[in-house]
Amino acid sequence: MNAFKDTQSLSELQAFVQLRRQIHMMPELGGETPATAAVVAEKLASWGYEVHRGIGGHGLVGVRRKGNSTRSIGLRADMDALPMQEENRFAHASQIAGRMHACGHDGHTAILLAAAWRLADSVDFDGTLNLIFQPDEEGLCGAKKMMEDGLFTRFPCDAIFALHNLPGIPLGTAVVQPGPTMAASQQVSIEIQGRGGHGAMPERSVDPFPVIASLINAIQTIKSRNLAVDEHAVISIGMVNAGTVYNIIPDTASMLLSVRTDSPETEQKINRRLEEIVRGHEQLYGVTISLQTDQLAPALVNSKFETQKVRQCLEPLFAPGTLLSQGKKLMATEDFAWMLTQVPGCYFFLGNGEGEFHGCSVHNPHYDFNDELIRLGSDCWVKIVQGCLS
Ligand SMILES: [Zn+2]
Ligand SMILES: [Zn+2]
Repeated sequence: MNAFKDTQSLSELQAFVQLRRQIHMMPELGGETPATAAVVAEKLASWGYEVHRGIGGHGLVGVRRKGNSTRSIGLRADMDALPMQEENRFAHASQIAGRMHACGHDGHTAILLAAAWRLADSVDFDGTLNLIFQPDEEGLCGAKKMMEDGLFTRFPCDAIFALHNLPGIPLGTAVVQPGPTMAASQQVSIEIQGRGGHGAMPERSVDPFPVIASLINAIQTIKSRNLAVDEHAVISIGMVNAGTVYNIIPDTASMLLSVRTDSPETEQKINRRLEEIVRGHEQLYGVTISLQTDQLAPALVNSKFETQKVRQCLEPLFAPGTLLSQGKKLMATEDFAWMLTQVPGCYFFLGNGEGEFHGCSVHNPHYDFNDELIRLGSDCWVKIVQGCLS
């Protein structure tokens, strides 16, 4: 069960717990992760990895080759934090106001470094190992930027893998799920162009307010009336903006929606319905409406073969019944999905624990990554490397 304990001393594991806490104290946001990337680069170089920095900004890849095989795999960790105030009071709480590692990316980085250290010398494999450290997962831009900067042409991978901690399920539990695993996300922007005027003379205006009120209601019917029960989607209106004072009818009104789906077909269906609703409202109210959809990330789909491979590799690490193949449906988004559009692979979850502390949701000001996962997570990476590059 505890390969780390078997092969390495606890004090060595403790060094990675300290490193995780050090990263936790100095969170960096979005694509601006120079200090975290520097720590990662320095560690990898000191263990003999070939380190390539500045890929799509502060992204980096550590490469290690062993044996003669031409096979190669990529393991990815994310490095960025969130723009929120940490409410924890422990010694390793964030030292920077308004920034917090509330998604555990500090832990994912430490896990991959702990694995890197073990894979450098004490563990054998045959092939090329590419360790991918990406910024800006939360902004859903980091993976794409690294790919646009030639990630997979410079470091070809036959398969790629990533993991995320999952609070609310017990430590020692994993979810390795084939097929759609995380949702596609798009931002939809709607802008109504009416004709403003005096609040006392609405007959001389084209008021955008009744239009936006009606749109808000009509959009709710897409999920409830147009989608079947097995077509998973979430449509949320996150912003509505119109008007300034009580006696002016504004020219325009606008809103932003978040649309999440687990398949391109459902996404297309929703987009088609949005288009029909918007054009119908133009006719009904005599306004013009612009509708813009921006895809932030596609659905994350695990390939069958690589998912099966991960299950096989992880089996020896997990007690019977704790290696799950189906988790709770998650409509959150992950930008590793972009990488999986180019290379087959698998993204899986490790339970962060239950209860008030380790069960606390990610993106919550009281969240913290469970340091116990550093050992288990690095065990997982070592097994996957051994299984894929043997
Ligand atoms: Zn997050
Ligand atoms: Zn995350």
